[in-house]
Amino acid sequence: MNLYGQTLENLEKYFESIGEKKFKATQVFEWIYQKREEKIENFSNIKKEIRTQLEQDFKMDIPKIIKREIDIDVEKFLFNLSDDEKIETVLMRHNYGLSVCVSSQVGCNMGCKFCESGRLKKVRNLETYEMVGQILAIEKEIKERISSVVIMGIGEPLDNYENVIDFIKIINHPKGIAIGSRHITLSTCGIIPKIKLLSEFPLQINLAISLHAPNDELRSKIMPINKAYPLKEVIEAVKEYIKKTNRRVTIEYILLKNVNDSIAHAHELATLLRGMNVYVNLIPYNETNHIEFKKSEKKSIDAFYQTLQKEKINVTVRREFGSKISAACGQLRSKEV
Ligand code: SAH
Repeated sequence: MNLYGQTLENLEKYFESIGEKKFKATQVFEWIYQKREEKIENFSNIKKEIRTQLEQDFKMDIPKIIKREIDIDVEKFLFNLSDDEKIETVLMRHNYGLSVCVSSQVGCNMGCKFCESGRLKKVRNLETYEMVGQILAIEKEIKERISSVVIMGIGEPLDNYENVIDFIKIINHPKGIAIGSRHITLSTCGIIPKIKLLSEFPLQINLAISLHAPNDELRSKIMPINKAYPLKEVIEAVKEYIKKTNRRVTIEYILLKNVNDSIAHAHELATLLRGMNVYVNLIPYNETNHIEFKKSEKKSIDAFYQTLQKEKINVTVRREFGSKISAACGQLRSKEV
């Protein structure tokens, strides 16, 4: 087991199982997340025998940064995992603080046609500690604290549900990395059963849905997952999620030139979302070397945006980061494998 993969509740259970008081779990959390102590032997308020036991039961290694690319407001980190697989994490500097975009899997099986990560199939899920480790390693490297986390890197987080949920619990916990739930966003291509499960999850995180098309025919062409979980059913699941959680959901929509970016598409999207507590985040496409899709022209982006506004749909255009340093979702890793 890895210590960074344990939620506080798991650690409490662990201590009870070895006949110890469960408050020791809080002490361990304080050592590893507040004091950032990296060696069990230095947990000085914990008895020597227990430290020895902990050392037998837990590792504390995390993914290693093997490459760092720096641009003005964005940096990319390539990580090497213990089995030599590679993942990447993006750090963005906003005026409100630092956010990171973490990966949840090595590769991805969703196969979205425009996406670099999907070109390389899923190798495996990330373990919880490998997600927590992305944050710890970056904070250590830059000597600054991260204030928000988006689970929008490589992988489909709802295809690695349990590990992602534990990750969220650990980074959110006040004795853990203490990132507020409203500063945590999970993005999914729409795995309906898991959206239902997530609506029962007590933490008030943000949910973002990668919609990218306003009808089934087009969505199935660019996102094969739509054949398993069609658009209308995704929308129904989102409506239920909103009803249950009372939270506004983000609809992500990449604008792909001459594919999904016409004014007619904007009207169709508005009709689909009418009356829902959502906001649309229009994403200028990050072009990649391998894929034929092109970014929409500025005038199409503007027209799409204005059409949604006229239709009284809440809409923003995502700020573009780091196209210079291959920040397009999976490109740093794909150069290495
Ligand atoms: N699998 C999850 C999360 C990872 S992808 C999901 O589908 O939401 C995060 C977001 O980046 C998704 O909206 C995805 O469609 C988008 N994306 C993928 N490749 C992109 C690219 N080249 N340019 C812009 N956005 C991209």
